[in-house]
Amino acid sequence: MIKCQVIGDPVRHSLSPYLHNAVYKQLGIDDKYVFDAVRVSPSELANYLARSRGGIVRGISVTVPHKVGVLQHLDEIDPLAQRIGAVNTIVNENNALIGYNTDTVGIITPLKQRLGSLRGKTALVLGAGGAARAAAFSLPDEGVTVHIANRTAERAESLAAEADAHSHSLDELDQLDFDILFNATSVGMQDDATLVPKQVLKSDHLVFEAVYKTTETTLLKDAKAAGATTISGLEMLAHQAVGQIKLYTGYDIGADFVLEILKAKHE
Ligand code: NAP
Repeated sequence: MIKCQVIGDPVRHSLSPYLHNAVYKQLGIDDKYVFDAVRVSPSELANYLARSRGGIVRGISVTVPHKVGVLQHLDEIDPLAQRIGAVNTIVNENNALIGYNTDTVGIITPLKQRLGSLRGKTALVLGAGGAARAAAFSLPDEGVTVHIANRTAERAESLAAEADAHSHSLDELDQLDFDILFNATSVGMQDDATLVPKQVLKSDHLVFEAVYKTTETTLLKDAKAAGATTISGLEMLAHQAVGQIKLYTGYDIGADFVLEILKAKHE
């Protein structure tokens, strides 16, 4: 069997084994591929990766707290993942571990599906953590001008300087002109909070939520009420998983199928 794994600490909550195994079954490759979750603490990370390099592990999905820590142990890092400074996907190519960041696929693909070319568009990214970094470094490659607003102003400023973007305070949202709004903060995950006042949202906006949960976030509800186009966090999750499945198995499957699997689990 070819093994793929998700590593994290904790990792029990991860949807990845359910999702990837369901895809293997659907593709008829579940007699060749199996996906499981492995709890790896930060102190065990180096040993785990060394063992994987010489073993039968083909793909490693990386979750909290290892997305930054794994970089120093890899043999090669995709240039975009290197710029983002975070890896969520590792592929074992002939005993060399190569790191990627498929959150960028999760962001860019659904945007292109809605807008076609992104060239000349302006995006307002809320947040300065991992998801915001994936957006701030991948959107300019598509010709998008990026504005960043974050609760901790210094983090917005430093990310904007690194990514050649513009930084703002969260109080300025109603003064900014943009086509795409991407919520890359965790606000809305635990409760109905939103960082975006209703009057900021317009019908010609595309509002993209990174937060994924069973119910719709307040941001997405408000965006729909304003007549804006919306993209959910589940859709981002599905597209980033499609990116991982392609890297691990070579199969390029549709995100709709992955989204159905995720929705079934969330119901
Ligand atoms: P992270 O690195 O921990 O960053 C969290 C961000 O949220 C920071 O910018 C933080 O601001 C901001 N924040 C947290 N609480 C806030 C509050 N009460 N008010 C204002 N800002 C607040 O997290 P991440 O990995 O980027 O993830 C962010 C969200 O995206 C999470 O909900 C995660 O589940 C989701 N995500 C989804 C996908 C997907 O596939 N759908 C992929 C990746 C991440 P400060 O800098 O001020 O602390």
